[in-house]
Amino acid sequence: IERITAPDMVYIPLLQHAGATCEPVVKAGDKVKVGQKIGDSKAAVSAFVHSSVSGEVIAVEQRIHPLLPFHVNTVVIKNNKQDEQDLSVCAKGTLSSITKENIISAIKEAGVVGMGGAQFPTHIKLSSSKPIDTVLLNGCECEPLLNADYRLMLERPETVITGLKLLMKASDVAKGIIAVEDNKPDAIEILKAKSAGDSSIEIVTVKTKYPEGAERMLIKRVLGREVPLGGLPLDVGVIVNNISTAQAVYEAVYSGMPLVKRVLTVAGNGVTLQGNYEVPVGMLVSDIIKICGIVISGNFELKMGGAIMGFTQNNYDVPVIKGTSGIVVFQKKDDLTEEPCIKCGRCVNVCPMELKPHKLVFYAKAENWDKMEKTGVMNCIECGCCEDICSSKSHMVSIFKKSKKIIRERKK
Ligand code: SF4
Ligand code: SF4
Repeated sequence: IERITAPDMVYIPLLQHAGATCEPVVKAGDKVKVGQKIGDSKAAVSAFVHSSVSGEVIAVEQRIHPLLPFHVNTVVIKNNKQDEQDLSVCAKGTLSSITKENIISAIKEAGVVGMGGAQFPTHIKLSSSKPIDTVLLNGCECEPLLNADYRLMLERPETVITGLKLLMKASDVAKGIIAVEDNKPDAIEILKAKSAGDSSIEIVTVKTKYPEGAERMLIKRVLGREVPLGGLPLDVGVIVNNISTAQAVYEAVYSGMPLVKRVLTVAGNGVTLQGNYEVPVGMLVSDIIKICGIVISGNFELKMGGAIMGFTQNNYDVPVIKGTSGIVVFQKKDDLTEEPCIKCGRCVNVCPMELKPHKLVFYAKAENWDKMEKTGVMNCIECGCCEDICSSKSHMVSIFKKSKKIIRERKK
């Protein structure tokens, strides 16, 4: 993992999580420090936002967002390169000294969210009233090109394990599991060595099979429990977090540093310096492009997230946010001419969510949104397995993404 020096300017959106947008608590001209809260919210579901650099607020303005189709209130900060830390950043305790309530409070104050993409506020997951017996750390990368979590397991195994133990204590759970794919034997070995003698932690090896990283599949494989379609892991007594989130939980308690930086993978055949980089939240993709020697000519595509489930970016002045697990740049496929469905059923056989993708495509083309919803499009995890195998080269993932957006908008 290579640390990237914070750039001259950062652009920190006040919405980087599931739930309500934060209200800014700073204005243009204010001086800020690393870890200082800049976005607050009293909403039931939200996550605080903090500055990743020290310097001066230049503006609070509406700007483009890497995941959302609309502009989002964003705090623009000029970095003074002094790296001054806010006074609020201090250790909140240790695994043995801190209470369950104070772990949840530290996580909330640090603005920790699920860092695998969903960005659900972690403190809310931990405050569920449902009976929970297992915390499952997802050590499977959600996409083939991404390996930031793998590097964290290898390079910071103690912080990952302590983060898991803090999550277990916060949710009153005696059992913690880290699930790692069998193509990462070195990570399995180091995690086993570091957790040896601790009977509350189990390191479980799972077969490397995309999309094993999807929560529902992982729970079924590791615990043999079936999350109902439309349900949550909490419904079957499990809290799932990813490796980066466990590391952020560790920081929230042991240093008190909020979630202001993250490790992400920069990969693909359009990248000269591929690797895993620790990047401040709010750094623009255009700045990362310069550092990593990314080439984007006409037939290359840049996505934030992975190559399959990621979001294509046409404007590179978008910031890295808490949930950005990767930036991938690759050549577009040449032959994308779609042909009529031949009803071969291959898409049905591979769908991990047990959907009928060919039928969903049919309903989408007929703009029959009610039928699409009834047949489960909202459960589609956009893994791309159906598209990959489709005999007619149907562009299913983009069809399902657009359909889900339309269905959500119809409900507003
Ligand atoms: S992208 Fe296709 S295979 Fe993956 S969950 Fe959605 S419908 Fe199923
Ligand atoms: S894989 Fe493609 S061609 Fe085959 S049934 Fe599914 S949509 Fe139709």
